[in-house]
Amino acid sequence: MKEIILAKYGEIILKGGNRPRFESILMNNIRNSLKNVAETKARLAQATVYVEVADADKMDIVMDRLSKIFGIVSITRAVVCEKDIEDIKQKTNEYLKDSLSDGKRFKVEAKRSDKSFPYTSPQICLEVGGYLDDEYPEIIVDVHNPDVTVKVEVRDFAAYAYAEENKIAGQGGMPIGTGSKATLLLSGGIDSPVAGHMISKRGVEIDAVNFFSFPYTSERAKEKVIELAGIIAQYTSKINLYIVPFTEIQLQIRDKCPEEHLTLVMRRFMMRIAERIARKNKSKALITGESVGQVASQTLAALDVTNSAVDMPILQPLIGMDKQEVIDRANAIGTYATSILPYEDCCTVFTPRHPTTNPKRETIEKSESRLDVETLIEAALAGVEKIEVYPN
Ligand code: ATP
Ligand code: MG
Repeated sequence: MKEIILAKYGEIILKGGNRPRFESILMNNIRNSLKNVAETKARLAQATVYVEVADADKMDIVMDRLSKIFGIVSITRAVVCEKDIEDIKQKTNEYLKDSLSDGKRFKVEAKRSDKSFPYTSPQICLEVGGYLDDEYPEIIVDVHNPDVTVKVEVRDFAAYAYAEENKIAGQGGMPIGTGSKATLLLSGGIDSPVAGHMISKRGVEIDAVNFFSFPYTSERAKEKVIELAGIIAQYTSKINLYIVPFTEIQLQIRDKCPEEHLTLVMRRFMMRIAERIARKNKSKALITGESVGQVASQTLAALDVTNSAVDMPILQPLIGMDKQEVIDRANAIGTYATSILPYEDCCTVFTPRHPTTNPKRETIEKSESRLDVETLIEAALAGVEKIEVYPN
């Protein structure tokens, strides 16, 4: 029996005049994501993407890839039938044998978008439902509370059947490339990868910046960040990761600023450097992983001090989330296990014992004025290493 994958997309249907452009971006993203995985043919019709997979053994990996493409809301494998009611009955029966064991409650739902097909949707339901009812003596028709909903779709080129229960959820969101670009401040922690995923889900392409304090942070910590970028790239395709040497800045801050201001002065440097990298690469916003009140540097007063260092929108999608909610998301997108690996982040190495929690801009700016900010930023930018990270 020939199988196909049906991927349905959601929000872009609502986009009126932009819809054709958004659809073609989605199709490009799908083809790109599958090209090194399997030989496939993808075609779009009636808010559904049809993906044919040449090698049946590759169905699962193709399903997995599609489940990570923004814009797709659900994915299912389906059996391909001729547009002939007898063929539809037989193939549906054979294909769904395991789902339709005796004693199950079931119903059939049909959709006929090819109006030249001689049976209406209600007639298809009756025909297929009656046939299955005869094939399994103890199966029960129950249109209100079915265990199994058999879907039959008669479309332009063929008919398709599958069980609704075998559908899996897609990512939802908008296809990457429909929403310009933003730059993620990516640490090795739990929060920032989740923040990056959330913004890219809205169709925004992502660059990433990491601040790295060799030798206070190890090569392993850098590998961990590259690995995290690789997991995010499973959803976004390639990510440009900029590694910024941060040791000199941290040492100078440590030597010249009051200890309780270390974190905030350091965060302001990060924002400024990220802004420069973002502007150079045509990013429209920065993304960070803060949530109000999570740590001393994330009180509203501290966020004001940090964010006022730059003049660019700062997207903080986790701002109202609890830690557990972030952890759940990190698990769902696959970054958690990597994030909790022990290698030190550059910030943890220079953390003050008693960080200020109610800072004022003027106070921190005064501490900062002990440093030659511009020279330090330029030196750091001169040492940036760019890494192209592909999905891992
Ligand atoms: P995360 O779990 O993302 O590390 P956090 O809870 O540890 O966040 P902070 O250390 O206050 O919070 O950092 C706040 C945000 O600043 C991070 O979410 C991230 O966006 C950015 N950031 C912190 N450290 C770095 C770093 N070494 N490189 C790049 N970005 C960083
Ligand atoms: Mg952190």
